[in-house]
Amino acid sequence: MPRTLIAIHAHPDDEASKTAATVARYAREGVRCILVTATGGEEGEYLNPSFAGRDPADLPDLPELRARELARSAGIIGYQEVISLGFRDSGMAGTAANADSGSFAALPLEDAAKPLVELIRRERPQVVISYGENQAFYPHPDHIRVFEAARTALQLACDPLAWPELGDAWRVPKWYWSLWTRERFEAVAKELANRGIEPPFRMQQRDGDDHLVTTRIDVSGTLAVARDALLAHESQIDPSTPFWFAISPEEMAAIYPFEEYHLVGSAEEEEENDLFAGVELS
Ligand SMILES: [Zn+2]
Repeated sequence: MPRTLIAIHAHPDDEASKTAATVARYAREGVRCILVTATGGEEGEYLNPSFAGRDPADLPDLPELRARELARSAGIIGYQEVISLGFRDSGMAGTAANADSGSFAALPLEDAAKPLVELIRRERPQVVISYGENQAFYPHPDHIRVFEAARTALQLACDPLAWPELGDAWRVPKWYWSLWTRERFEAVAKELANRGIEPPFRMQQRDGDDHLVTTRIDVSGTLAVARDALLAHESQIDPSTPFWFAISPEEMAAIYPFEEYHLVGSAEEEEENDLFAGVELS
């Protein structure tokens, strides 16, 4: 039975800014890695200043460009398959797009979860990664919906009475939330300060998920892959952003070589260092 991991993200670029180094590591170890991206990021804007000042008529269509960037990033990370669910971006919290009845966050939860149930039953992953419950700092409706849809899908995928036409029930043994820890931020901020660079104000205000860490993955070997994946999102990423790019992957590996996760329902007292720890593969 192959080791299979499914990562569920909200928009093109989320797969590069979160979980990328971890997935890259497992992909290089031969794990079948599948990316789900819920929306096309239609509500995004050109965020890279290199696009500024260009005649809007000369700019490529943003959703098309973002789909190409997503494909490039996923290829760099090592995903074997990219599944774009095709839901509509709901926009940042408080924007007019939230009210669009066709948006991902506005759809009935079961509609959002159904394609995930079908995928889980088909692929029988041992590991699913999504966002977590606590998204108070960045309450993007699509990110909150990824959490809710993942939770519902994992419950229904193992219920043989739910959508039996979608395949045999499958219980995913390990569901992880990707985390944002203060520990990591402080390490980056300290290194930036050593170089006279002010760490981003927004990040300084943010509480961390440190108390939720159950699992710490050493990603020292794939931080460069994650950086390259992020740079593939040309329209979204300013390559001069110090927070992401001032510290090289090699330097980062020396400062803080981990990505952290929360294993849902874990009763283990000891931290894990492998997403597949304890999984039976027969
Ligand atoms: Zn996003």
